[in-house]
Amino acid sequence: MEIVVCVKQVPDTTEVKIDPVTNTLIREGVPSIVNPFDKFALEMALQLRDKHGGKVTVISMGPPQAAAALRECIAMGADEAVLLSDRAFAGSDTLATSYTLSQAVRKMGNVDLVICGKQAIDGDTAQVGPEMAEHLGIGQLTYISTIEFDGEKLIAHREQDEGYDVIEAKPPLVVTIIKLAMDPRLPTVKGTAKAYRTEVPVWTAADIAIDPKFAGLEGSPTLVKRIFTPERRGKGEIIQGDSKEAVDVLVDKLRQAKIL
Ligand SMILES: Cc1cc2nc3c(=O)[nH]c(=O)nc-3n(C[C@H](O)[C@H](O)[C@H](O)COP(=O)(O)OP(=O)(O)OC[C@H]3O[C@@H](n4cnc5c(N)ncnc54)[C@H](O)[C@@H]3O)c2cc1C
Repeated sequence: MEIVVCVKQVPDTTEVKIDPVTNTLIREGVPSIVNPFDKFALEMALQLRDKHGGKVTVISMGPPQAAAALRECIAMGADEAVLLSDRAFAGSDTLATSYTLSQAVRKMGNVDLVICGKQAIDGDTAQVGPEMAEHLGIGQLTYISTIEFDGEKLIAHREQDEGYDVIEAKPPLVVTIIKLAMDPRLPTVKGTAKAYRTEVPVWTAADIAIDPKFAGLEGSPTLVKRIFTPERRGKGEIIQGDSKEAVDVLVDKLRQAKIL
């Protein structure tokens, strides 16, 4: 199986703070990590490769420092990595990001599965995977927690609020992965040594035949008008008891607040 895993380098959001004056994220000094859902995507890809053979390639679109995230994936067991980096990609929204990633998948050719995390913990849109399927003109399985491959088709569990769907589909496919029951594997010593010996190839816009109309700022129809911290609401109040009196107290309060 030829599998591509899309990996985004994200700020560790547990460390991100908001500037109270400008209401923007303070990113300085915040460590970068591999998006946690992408580690689960990689774990799923590695399990499929270990069982059915083939190759796992990790790709990321980002600045040169995103190569560190790809090296971490090689240390975990990925076979190859490619960084997509070019000033032409700057300012990409999800549509332009998914177009750029798709062009890299097209260049690789003969890819059976593209596996993404469900969402990135900084952008949080969960759009890139489904948009890639559209750009590539192939099917998509989203919110997936388990995958079996019978040599012809995938049998996957898609999580729902109350249980899961069992879906069958034939590759090529884009799959997005939720948090799995097991933790992603840790980097091995051998893998870490390989990661530091590996020169991560960088593909530019020209390498993947990017049409500038669809990439970077020019290819991004989304406009962010304002970013702000939601105002804190007042404290809630719990009215104790399950008697009629407790209901009367609640009704009084709602009347006072002119809600009733
Ligand atoms: C108008 C606008 C301008 C923007 N400008 C910039 C900018 O200048 N610089 C900037 O850094 N961001 C910019 N962004 C943010 C950027 O659009 C998102 O970070 C990116 O499109 C991914 O969206 P997301 O984080 O919601 O990912 P999701 O859709 O939540 O991610 C789902 C999955 O897709 C894959 N994935 C997502 N992004 C990547 C990636 N880059 N590489 C590999 N795999 C990926 C991962 O597997 C991830 O788990 C901008 C956004 C907007 C709306």
